[in-house]
This record gives sequence, structure tokens and C-alpha cells, in this order.
Amino acid sequence: MDLKTKITRLNRIGKTLEKRLSLLGIVTVEDLLFYFPFRYEDYSTVLDIAKLQNGQEVTIRGKIELLNAKRSSRQRKIVTEALISDGSEQLRLVWFGQPFISKTLHVGDELYFSGKVKSDMFGLQMVSPSYERVRNGEPSQTAGRRGTGNGTNTINTARILPIYSLTAGITQKQLRFLISQVVHVIDEIVDWVPEDVRDVADVMELKEAIRSIHFPENQAEINHAEKRLKFDELFILQLRAEMLRQSIKVAKAPKIKFSEKAIQDFVATLPFELTKDQKVASWEIIQDLEKGVPMNRLLEGDVGSGKTVVAAMATLNTVLNNYQVAIMAPTEVLASQHYESFCELFKDTNIVVGLLSRSKAQASQKSKVESQKSLSAQKKEFIKLLKEGEIHVVIGTHALLTEDVQFKDLALVIVDEQHRFGVEQRKTIKEKSGNKKTTPHFLSMTATPIPRSFALTIYGDLDLSIIKQMPSNRKVIKTRLVDDHNRQKAYDFIAEQVKQGRQVFVICPLIEQKEKDENEIEIINYNFTGSQEKKSVLAEFEKLSKQIFPDLKVDYLHGKMKSAEKDEIMQDFAGGKIDILVSTSVVEVGVNIPNASVMMIEGSENFGLAQLHQFRGRVGRSSYQSYCFLFTTKSSPKSKERLEFFEKTHDGFALAEYDLEVRGPGAVYGTSQSGMMNLKIATMRDNDIIKLARDVARGIDFKKYPSLKQKVGDWEKSVHLE
Ligand code: ADP
Ligand code: MG
Repeated sequence: MDLKTKITRLNRIGKTLEKRLSLLGIVTVEDLLFYFPFRYEDYSTVLDIAKLQNGQEVTIRGKIELLNAKRSSRQRKIVTEALISDGSEQLRLVWFGQPFISKTLHVGDELYFSGKVKSDMFGLQMVSPSYERVRNGEPSQTAGRRGTGNGTNTINTARILPIYSLTAGITQKQLRFLISQVVHVIDEIVDWVPEDVRDVADVMELKEAIRSIHFPENQAEINHAEKRLKFDELFILQLRAEMLRQSIKVAKAPKIKFSEKAIQDFVATLPFELTKDQKVASWEIIQDLEKGVPMNRLLEGDVGSGKTVVAAMATLNTVLNNYQVAIMAPTEVLASQHYESFCELFKDTNIVVGLLSRSKAQASQKSKVESQKSLSAQKKEFIKLLKEGEIHVVIGTHALLTEDVQFKDLALVIVDEQHRFGVEQRKTIKEKSGNKKTTPHFLSMTATPIPRSFALTIYGDLDLSIIKQMPSNRKVIKTRLVDDHNRQKAYDFIAEQVKQGRQVFVICPLIEQKEKDENEIEIINYNFTGSQEKKSVLAEFEKLSKQIFPDLKVDYLHGKMKSAEKDEIMQDFAGGKIDILVSTSVVEVGVNIPNASVMMIEGSENFGLAQLHQFRGRVGRSSYQSYCFLFTTKSSPKSKERLEFFEKTHDGFALAEYDLEVRGPGAVYGTSQSGMMNLKIATMRDNDIIKLARDVARGIDFKKYPSLKQKVGDWEKSVHLE
């Protein structure tokens, strides 16, 4: 058995358990060992019964003297009672509703019992303790134990018990048992952080950390192990940032002169006044472009804050310097929409804007592309024009990187909603750019609010421009968490809005019943909600179009539709041909329908706050008062609290911070489109370790430490950046 061994080789793993473990990301022995507890319960103190006190959480070791099971009169549940003696004293134990106990345990058995000591009118007792047999010949001495390997050999009692995040159908005991089977494999873990780097960082060896995180002897050991494991996660991020920083520092980029007059004229044609933040961000970008080193900037701004026009200014400036610009969006819908926006923004200029995606190739002012008969002929023509520099701005999905695309002279790459670019992607772009000597400038745009301190950790290599201020014509979107019995009122309200000419979004977590979530919700630390109970687009569409709004135009949209179909639906919606659009999270990012005024979200507990905020940002994009209604299917008090916070909070940054705190960054930013890190153990509160990881990574010589470089590469692959 080694680290790569599949867990199916372990004892007591059947098909169902295998499946459930895979939901937790556990497929190999290595996955199992790197599945960390999120807290501990200390049952390491084994006390004499005579010394027990009310309220203690302890372990005792004793023999069963009496054991009997009976049915309780009131609750009609099996109650098992036992009397235990350890020589010092006797103690009563009681379990409710666990009929198997009286069959597995017998008078005379010696066991460890861990649980909370309680006092009632008959004296002290322990309720529903965990128990575990004392193995033959085990000394009663209790100090210096290690759960597995020496000492007591216990897994579920008499030690500091690790508590793991679970999914339905897996128990702590099962997980602990599985991990105890692979302890010996820990020795095979090779430390990717070289010893001298470990010394500088003052962290323990990886195998030791893994052993201690699952089988700690004391709190100090947990602390050391956690420090090392948190350091690892943060160190990878910082190394990656450092690697990018080092490679960017030596690269050359085209110098883009500031075409001041043209930009001023452009701004004058806009139907609105730029906000101060938009001006500052544009200025920062324009200054970056003038330098001879590649810009590497993240433009952050809440939904509707107006990032597109900032990107357009950078684009215009670049094209006026006779260079090309590539703009990449995460979905075809968004790419199409950017295409329309840019065509509109540049309609009074000579700039040729093109759209290239899996299913489309078209260009403004170049009928040559559209005159071709087949899509492949259109693409061919498009690619030719691009290479000749006849198309100045190309907009597409990430397929742009894979298509047979070649630029004449690409100087600026703008990426919407993907946060950042991997080393490999940069290389690909550079190769396509048409200029071997320079690297294009990069601008990332995101509506995901990322607090500055967090951004420094995650995007240590990027410069940051933040648009905090919203255009002044925006109204607060009235947000209400609606009880199901008020559903009809919400429908009446929607009908009224449509009557006034407005349009409505209805978001559902699933495409069709019995399907997996399109939105890849985080299972860890959450109760796994069976997908059957979530609302689906197709079922809601049926209901709304036939029963609720038979007179209105209802349609639907989801990620599995052909992109031509999707575009058609979006166009119909934008053109007012659809009143109510039922959709999955595909409408999440960037979609702009100014006439829409109601966002109704089904099963809102399934979404993160940042994502809900994105949905909410789909409405209120004009002067109409807009509304966001949240419905829940299966809401816990915790999720209700989250949704209530959302109800009254309209600042994306505050929402992100709240969710970071409650759900962790993996859940907040780890959606499929973001390609971000998934911190398992480190959190944004680990300021000291963040700083440590930054300091150690700064200036590191990657030639001297190939294993560090390798690790960053592996990490990039694992988060699907490439
Ligand atoms: P996002 O930052 O979410 O990408 P957009 O760039 O799509 O936002 O802008 C949203 C809407 O706001 C667009 O219709 C855009 O024309 C408009 N807009 C942008 N800047 C301003 C401004 N300063 N004042 C008023 N409206 C603006
Ligand atoms: Mg946008």
C-alpha cells in the first residue's frame, strides 16, 4: 500500500462508502491522510471514576458489571443501561435508542468510555458515551499514548479525538477507522519544502505534521501541525505569486502612449459621467500601459459598478497605438454580451470589434466574415483578418487560447471573471501575440469583492484597482426573504411588474430534477441536501408557464443548452420578447438586462452570499426600482441568519467578508468559474502565517529549489487554471 493506493483496497469500504468518500474528495490513501479534522475533542485524560465531577468530558476505563436493555415507557425507545467499575468506584452509563449495544457488549468486558459526566438524583452518570475495547495486554498506564502505534491503540476514545467534516452517510468512527488503517503510509510522504526552507520558516516536517493532525498527543502538537499545514497552503499561493512576479519583472511589454485627446473625446460621448473610482482605475491602467513592463492588474468592482467602460478606455488607447486587444469571458453568453457592449461603445470610431467563440465568428464593420457560408469558413476568414490586424479587438471565451488564433500585434489581454492567469496561459498568449520580444499587458476584471488583505494573499502578484463607488443613478434593490406561504403574493407582484413592462429572472439551483448541481455547491461543513429537493429550471418553467403565468411569455436558460440556443434566449430576453426567464446560475456573471426589475431566487440557501449578490446585481441596472426575492427549500437556522444578513446588506465587500468568516474562502470564491485556491485549513485570520509565507517566498531562488517550482505547477493543474 502506498499514497496512490485507492481507498477501495482498505477494509470495510464498499461501493456506497467509496462514493460518499469521493464526495469529500477522498479517492486515494493520500487524499485520506490529507483530509484534516476541523476541530478536536479532548478525551485523552483517563480518570478514575472516584475522581469524576459533574460536567467533565473524560474517558474512563472499566469493566462492565451489569448490562441491560429495556424499552422506555414514554418514548418507546430502547434504553441500555450499564454499571461500570474501575476498582476505584462504580459509574452508571446510559444509551438511548441504540439496541445493538446490549448485543455487542457483555458483562465482564473491559472498555474505554468517553463522554460527558452528568449528575442526576441518583448521582453521576455518563450519557451515550463512545466506547472502545481495551485490547489484550494493554497496560492501564495512560500517559504518553499515541492513538495508534503505541500506548492504548484506541481510535475513538481515550485520546484527543479529531472531528472531521462529514457528508451524509459517513460517521466520525468510520473515518477515524479508515485513517488508522493507513498510518504506516505516512512515512512515505516526501516533504516538498526543503529542510533549509523549513528551518527559515520554523515549521515541522510534513510527515510529522500529518501524523500529529490525526493523532495528536496534546494541544501543542496540534498547534505545530496546524502551523505547518496552513503554511503549506499559503506558501504555495505566495510562491506562485513570487514566480509570476519574477517572470514578469524581466519581461518587456509594448509601450502604449496615452492618447489623451481621443480618450477625452470618447468619455465625452458617454451618456453618463464617470464616477471618481472609474476615473482613478482608468488612470492607473493607462499609466501601467505606458511602462515597458507588462501590466498585471486586477480591476475589482461590484456588479454594475461600470468596469466595462474602464476596460473600453484601455482598449481604445491600445488600439490607437496600433496594437490589438483580446477580451476573454467565462461563458459564450457573456462574450456575446461584451461584444455588443463594445460594438456600441465604439460605434463612432473606426475600431473593428470581433467575436470568436465555439459557435460564432463575426465582426463589426467586416461583412467579409459573415458573408461566408459555413461556420468553419467564417472562422477561417475571421482568423485571417485577425492575423492581418484588420480586426482590432477580439472578444471570446477561453477557447481563444485553444483556437488556431494568431495575432498581428497583441498588446493587451483583458480577462473577465477569471481573476487571474496561469503561467501556461500567459505563455500561450505570448506565443499567439505576433510579437516574440514582448509580453502583452494583462488586466483581470472581477465583480467578486475581495477584501484588500485577502487579495494580497491570493493575488500577491497583482496590482489592484478597486471601484467601490456605484454610479449615482442606482437605487437600492429591495431584498426580501419570503416565506413559502407568501409565494402567491410574490407571483402577484411579479405579474404586476410585468404589466408595467418590466422583466423577471427566476433562478433555480438545478437544471432538472434528480440532477447534480450545476453550481457545485460546497458539501464540506454543510449538511448535504439531497438534490431531489432542490428546485429545477425545467420543473419551475413548467409550473410558471402553465399554471402561474399562462398569459405571460416564460422561457428558460441553462448551461447544458447549445450556445446558439442560449444566445437566442438571451437576445430574446434583452429584446423584451421574454417576460420571465427561468435560469440556473449561468446568468450569474455580467449579464446586462436593464429592463429587468425582479430577481427571484429559489433554494437560495444553496448559494453563497457573493453569488447571491451577483444574481441580485442582474436587476437594478437602470432607473427602475428593483427587487430581489429569496425563497428557501430547506433552510437551517444558520442559513436563515446568512440570508437575513444578505437581506439588509448591499455592500459586496461586507457580504464577502461575512461569507469568508462563515463558510471560508473555498466556498466563497471556489466556484467552478473562478479557478481559485481552495484553502482546507488556513483561513484569512491566519495573519501571522500569511505574512510568514510571504516573507519566506519573497526572493526565493526557484533554480535552487526545483521541488517548489514543481509544487506550484501541480497546484495550478489541480485548480484547473490551465
Ligand atoms: P460591471 O462592473 O458589472 O461590469 P457594467 O460595466 O456592465 O458593470 O456597467 C453596468 C451599467 O452601468 C452599464 O449599463 C453601463 O453603461 C452603466 N454605467 C457604467 N458607468 C456608469 C456611470 N458612471 N454612470 C451611470 N451608468 C454607468
Ligand atoms: Mg461586467
